[in-house]
Amino acid sequence: MMSTHLGKLIIAVDCDGVLSDFVGRCAEVVAARHGVHFTVDQVTQWDFVTTPGWKKDFFQHCKEPGFVYGMQVLPGAVWGVDKLREFGRVICITSPFGGAPVWASEREAWLRDHFRFDRKDIVQCDDKSLITRAVLLDDNPENIQGDDLLIDRPWNQHAAGLVRACAWDTAVAYVRVVLNQ
Ligand SMILES: [Mg+2]
Repeated sequence: MMSTHLGKLIIAVDCDGVLSDFVGRCAEVVAARHGVHFTVDQVTQWDFVTTPGWKKDFFQHCKEPGFVYGMQVLPGAVWGVDKLREFGRVICITSPFGGAPVWASEREAWLRDHFRFDRKDIVQCDDKSLITRAVLLDDNPENIQGDDLLIDRPWNQHAAGLVRACAWDTAVAYVRVVLNQ
């Protein structure tokens, strides 16, 4: 039985690494503040430890006002979310950066301004297994359960045995099949 809410299928999408370019924003801010340059492809671990020139202190910039709202939309994401909305109610489940006072409010504004997400369709929490959905698109293997789809990124290559999508068109095609639409 597919998970529904008030008769509608719930299709969930993660934000960072799926809709928003968190890693690219880190690269931009670190280059500007520290003159340290790296590419998104050089981020092959969640904690950036293998990224050339990365220092743990750089994560402090993620807590600054403007960091979240300044993120770029990932290619194809606006198209993808619009397609998913043809299948059901699309919600965003996103985990806020710990200890960042303006993260949640900036994220809500960003999701509204780029994707027309109403605040009732945004869930900000760390444990995504608490949220019932038919399917979730996420780049973190730890969040994947049931029919969820892993979005392929340089930092999740180590995860084996999960269904993954490298682009939005294949992700939408997968969801269509899983939801039988
Ligand atoms: Mg993510």
